Amino acid sequence: MNESSGTPSKELDFQTDWTYSPAPESTDHIEFPEKNDLFINGKFQPPVNGKYFETLDPSNEEKLADVAEAGQEDIANAVAAASKAYDKVWSKIDPAERGKYIYRIARQIQERAREFAVIESMDGGKPIRESRDVDIPLSAAHFFYYAGWADKLDYAFPGRKTKPVGVAGQIIPWNFPLLMAAWKIAPALAAGNTVVLKPAESSPLTAMKLAEIIQEADLPPGVVNIINGGGETGRALVEHPDIDKIAFTGSTEVGKWIMKSVAGTPKKYSLELGGKAANIIFEDAPIDQAVEGIVNGIFFNQGHVCCAGSRLFVQESVAENVISKLKDRMDTLIVGNPLDKNTDIGAINSKTQLERIKMYVDIGQKEGGQIFQPSCSLPEKGYWYAPTLFTDVSQSHRVVQEEIFGPVLAIQTFRTVDEVIAKANNTPYGLSGGVWTDKGSKIFNVSRDIRAGVIWANTFNKFDPSAPFGGYKESGFGREGGLEGLLPYVDLD
Ligand code: NAP
Ligand code: MG
Repeated sequence: MNESSGTPSKELDFQTDWTYSPAPESTDHIEFPEKNDLFINGKFQPPVNGKYFETLDPSNEEKLADVAEAGQEDIANAVAAASKAYDKVWSKIDPAERGKYIYRIARQIQERAREFAVIESMDGGKPIRESRDVDIPLSAAHFFYYAGWADKLDYAFPGRKTKPVGVAGQIIPWNFPLLMAAWKIAPALAAGNTVVLKPAESSPLTAMKLAEIIQEADLPPGVVNIINGGGETGRALVEHPDIDKIAFTGSTEVGKWIMKSVAGTPKKYSLELGGKAANIIFEDAPIDQAVEGIVNGIFFNQGHVCCAGSRLFVQESVAENVISKLKDRMDTLIVGNPLDKNTDIGAINSKTQLERIKMYVDIGQKEGGQIFQPSCSLPEKGYWYAPTLFTDVSQSHRVVQEEIFGPVLAIQTFRTVDEVIAKANNTPYGLSGGVWTDKGSKIFNVSRDIRAGVIWANTFNKFDPSAPFGGYKESGFGREGGLEGLLPYVDLD
C-alpha cells in the first residue's frame, strides 16, 4: 500500500505475477570419484571384467560418473568376504560392540547430511527439499534405531533366543537410494548378519558414499560389501549358493522371479514390492489439509513412491469442491531444478520411467479418461512430467489398476463406506492407504477393513524407524522398520 494515500502502489501490482526467486543448493562442496569401484572386503576395488557403466543426472541428462559393474567373479568375492566376516567376526563380537559401529555410521550420515542430500538429488532427480528433509534424516534415524537393538535382542523377542541368519544379499530400487540401503543394512547388522548390497543402476552414488562412511567407521572388512550393476548383477546375487537371505525392494515382477529362484533352497527372503494405494476422502474430512495430503501422497517425489496415494476416492458430496481445490493447488506446484529449494516436483528418474508414465497416460486417455495438467513449463533437457490427474475413470481402467510410478492420480467418487472399502480393496496390491475424516470411529472401521500394510489417518507418507512397513497380497511380505524389521534377519529358537 502507498502509506500516505492508502491506494495500492505500483510495486504491489507486480505481486499478481509473483514467483519465487531461484534458490539452488550449491554443488561446489560436492565430491565423488569419476570412477566408482566396487566396495568389497573393506576396500574399493575395480571389477574383474573391467566394465563400467554411467550414471546420469536425470534433470539434464549429463553424465555424473562411471560406476563399476560387478560380474560373477566380483559377486563371488563379495559373498566370500561377507561369509568370512560373518564366521570370524560379526556373529561373534559382543552385540554392544556391533551397536557402537552402527551408531558411528548413523552419526557420520548426520554429519555429512548436506553432501548426501545434494548427491541424492543430482543422481536421482528428487527435489532437494525431500532428500534434505526426508531421505537423509530418516536414513540416519534407521541406523540410530537399529543400533539400539543390537544388544537388546533378548528383550526384542522375550523367551526366545535369536541367532543371525548369515549373509544377506540385499537389492534396492532407485526411488529412495540411501534410505532403502539404510532400511536393509541397519537391521541386518544389528542382528549380527553380514551384507552384500546391490543398489539400482540409475542411482548408485549415495550408496558409494555410504561405503566411504563404512570404511571410516572402521567396520571389520567384509561386514558390508556394496556392488553395483543392473538386473543381471541382482540375479547373480540372488542365485549365489552361499547367500542365506535375500531382501528385495522393487517391482512385483522381479519379486515373483526371486520367489521362484529361491524355492527349494534354504534361503530366507523378504519382498517389498509395488503398490496402488487408495487415498480416501470422506465428506467430513478437513478438506484443505486433505488436498495437501493428496498432493503429498502422489506428487511428492514425482510419484516415485511405492506407497504413493495413486488412487483417490472422494465422497460424492464433496468431490467437486475437492477436485477444484486440488486443481488450484496443482497450478501452484513448482516443477524444475531438483537442487532448487523451492522445487516441489523434480526430474523423472530415467528415460525408461518417463516413457512408462507417458505410455500409461496415453492408455488412460484412450480408455476414455479425462486428464488435467497445470500449465507449468517443463525444462527442455532432462526427463520431466507435469503432475496429472485423471477423472472419468472406473475400476476396470488400467490407470486405476496398474502401478504407474509417476505423478499421475486417478480420481473416483463413492457414496458409502462399504462401497469405498470394496473399491479400495479391488487391487492386486496392498501396501498402503489413507483415510481422511473427522470421525475416529470411521478411521478405525475403514483402516481395519482395507487390506494394506500401512494406513495413514488424516496424513500421508509419514515414516518412522520404529513403525513396521510392508505389504499384503502382491505388495510382498516381511516387514521393514520396528521390531518386526528384525524378524527377517534372525532365526528364533
Ligand atoms: P525393479 O526393476 O524390480 O528393480 C529393483 C532392483 O532389482 C534394482 O536394483 C534392479 O536393478 C534389480 N533387479 C532387476 N532385475 C532383477 C533380477 N532379475 N534379479 C534381481 N534383481 C533385479 O524395480 P524398479 O522398477 O527399479 O523399482 C520400482 C518398483 O519398486 C516399483 O514397483 C515400486 O513399487 C517398488 N518399490 C517398492 C517399495 C516397497 O517398500 N514396497 C519401495 C520402493 C520401490 P537395476 O535397477 O539396476 O536394473
Ligand atoms: Mg543417476
